[in-house]
Amino acid sequence: MSLHDLYGHESLMNRLVGALASGRFPQALLLSGPAGVGKQRVALALAEALLCPEEGPCGGDCPAARQVRRLAHPDLHWLVPIVPSGKSSGPDKQIEESETALGEIMAERRESPIYGPLDGRASHSIASARILRKKVGMTPFQARRKVVIVGDADRLVAQESSLEAANTLLKVLEEPPKDTFLILTSSVPEALLPTIRSRLVAVRVGRLRDSEVERFLIEQVNTPADKARRIAEGAEGSVGRALAAAGSGDPATRAAARFLKAVEDGPLAWAGEALMQQPWGARGAHTALLDQLAVQLRSKLQGILQDGASGADNYLEAIRLVQKHRVETQRNLNPQVGLAVLASDMAAVL
Ligand SMILES: [Zn+2]
Repeated sequence: MSLHDLYGHESLMNRLVGALASGRFPQALLLSGPAGVGKQRVALALAEALLCPEEGPCGGDCPAARQVRRLAHPDLHWLVPIVPSGKSSGPDKQIEESETALGEIMAERRESPIYGPLDGRASHSIASARILRKKVGMTPFQARRKVVIVGDADRLVAQESSLEAANTLLKVLEEPPKDTFLILTSSVPEALLPTIRSRLVAVRVGRLRDSEVERFLIEQVNTPADKARRIAEGAEGSVGRALAAAGSGDPATRAAARFLKAVEDGPLAWAGEALMQQPWGARGAHTALLDQLAVQLRSKLQGILQDGASGADNYLEAIRLVQKHRVETQRNLNPQVGLAVLASDMAAVL
């Protein structure tokens, strides 16, 4: 199987491919933007252009581009967060285990290129950072250069425990080899260490148009047209969100609705909701809950604005609280405690 086409982001791609043509393409790029809008897909489309042997823009149908879309180009390295094995082994063994895990994920993505949200426990471990260093040090096999994509870069464990992974990444970013292009993606760029962020050229990947999300659902997952339109309207320009909604019952949506109800019902109810959060590990699930919370608050805000009713400021403030809490959660605040604090802060404004 090959990756599906890139949906939307035409002007962004034109800008970046133009930068490549004029030799101004940044060696270390950070693609940031909402979850599920296709940041890693954009990175892979850029890899096609970067690894194309032709001078001039890649038409996308040369062998190199096809290799990229099959995730089979030897100079394309795509690192994604992985779930730690839990085994306590030496550094060399850890690298080996991580490489195996990455290989399995890539094999899955070759089979079914449309993938769901990350496991909450998945992270870029120190072993991943070492793999990154190794890849960056390699001579290109086939192309003139190599491309290393680091998806969900904010999941570098250095954010919360050891600094070693961050230092390894920093060293690579300080002086990447001339033939190496690094593309990091993140939906929470604030959670990256400032020293890392300052070495990256940040480019925003915006939300898709509703019509593009709708077309994706129809063409890629065979959603019936009327359903696709309905889902796209509520997806905030995120294919990821649309896929979750198209699937059978999204747990984050239900959890967010329960949480909002608990905020209305008072401290006893919200304490119960907070306790249902797992204290460790399920960070992805927690982030999904917060994102869904923001979506539901925004749709309430929209209703208020449409009706000309009062209370819009309160909902804006509640959305701001959720966003602030989301950043804090990335910095390892205990989700149970954090959610109880959030509920109490939200109750004060709603
Ligand atoms: Zn090409």
